[in-house]
Amino acid sequence: MKNFNYYLPTSIRYGWGRVNEIGKVTSRLGKKCLLVTVKPFPAMKPLFEKVITLCNEAGVEVIHFDGVIPNTTTDSINLASEMAIKNNIDVVLGVGGGSSIDTAKSIAVGATHEGDIWDYRLKQKRINSKKLLPIVTIPTTSGTGAEITSVAVIKNPKEKLKSVLADWSLCPKVSIVDPETTMTVPSYITASTGFDVFCHLFESYLNKFSTYIVDLIALDSIKMVIKHLPIAIEDSSNKEAREALSMTSTFGGICITNVGTTLFHAIGMSIGGNTSNIMHGEALAIMYPEINRWTWKHAAQKYATVGRLFNPNLINESDVVAAEQACIEIEKFIKKIGLWISLEDKNVSEGDLKKIGDDALEIPNYKFHPKVPNLEEINNLIRRSYKN
Ligand code: NAD
Repeated sequence: MKNFNYYLPTSIRYGWGRVNEIGKVTSRLGKKCLLVTVKPFPAMKPLFEKVITLCNEAGVEVIHFDGVIPNTTTDSINLASEMAIKNNIDVVLGVGGGSSIDTAKSIAVGATHEGDIWDYRLKQKRINSKKLLPIVTIPTTSGTGAEITSVAVIKNPKEKLKSVLADWSLCPKVSIVDPETTMTVPSYITASTGFDVFCHLFESYLNKFSTYIVDLIALDSIKMVIKHLPIAIEDSSNKEAREALSMTSTFGGICITNVGTTLFHAIGMSIGGNTSNIMHGEALAIMYPEINRWTWKHAAQKYATVGRLFNPNLINESDVVAAEQACIEIEKFIKKIGLWISLEDKNVSEGDLKKIGDDALEIPNYKFHPKVPNLEEINNLIRRSYKN
């Protein structure tokens, strides 16, 4: 068996009603908290109010930054970091989807480190773990796993580029994963964020550096996503489906934090950097079919294993047949969850395709793919994903 490392510094509190523990949890880490969220809207406002009340009751003063922008931007981080400094914040609490949580993580750096947050991407400037503000998270989408990962994805709107802050100290101290907080997520966002869960699990398993422990978590969780994501899309009030997705979302975070994603995410992030109307899960759904067809022969056994999770009848077929069929099974799944879209459908201009390809190389995860592509191969994959 291969050697492996496994590390997870975040304390996870999973289960229905666990949001009620947020006051106690936060008060152990600080007395003045920056709550980081999107602008309150009817689905989320009651949760934000509840969190503020619970923190206040536990003796924690709350300052609310509600300027999170989808696909976390450096401008909003800089603004919020100034707010944190001015108010002597000693703990940051991200409540929301990946964009809110990544904003919270980035503020923990921005409020304690000199200079522009963008300079800290990909370890260009060192993050001093001793200085960082403690981070607490409550995810409200079942998607990114950001609630426990060691990275924050940030976007520089001027350069139209997405990149990551990466350091183990960015793993939140505590994450409260309460499926109740996801019950209000609309169907299409459930689909897009839920497909991201599948991608984290699948890509961790496919990753050249996957480990036995990651494989165990990923394969079992993929089975749950295949079963429960279509149910949650169809019936947003289905509690069993919501709890399975909440749990597997966090499990996906555990997997990517230990081994990382692959080429799908490198191009997906580049699409997110270059556009402002494409959700992270949509970008992945756009790229999956072509990249799968290009990849499966280089990881036939793993594709076959995943193919058999989608279609148990493939047990009777050879690995090669099951692996090729896995690509079709994943396409059927993307169609079933309503994400069969192309770059053209999302109004991306053909002139932007080359920059999307170039920027994908900025995300080192493409090197973890079973077959490492060159720029020409990346550009071909993007071009072939332009139309369905
Ligand atoms: P998001 O945070 O942008 O949220 C999507 C939409 O859902 C927003 O409009 C939000 O207001 C809404 N929403 C969230 N919770 C809701 C609820 N309970 N009810 C109703 N509406 C709700 O989307 P996301 O997919 O969670 O996060 C995407 C971001 O996370 C991207 O920038 C992506 O690159 C990043 N990401 C980060 C990591 C990481 O480890 N840090 C991993 C993967 C992706």
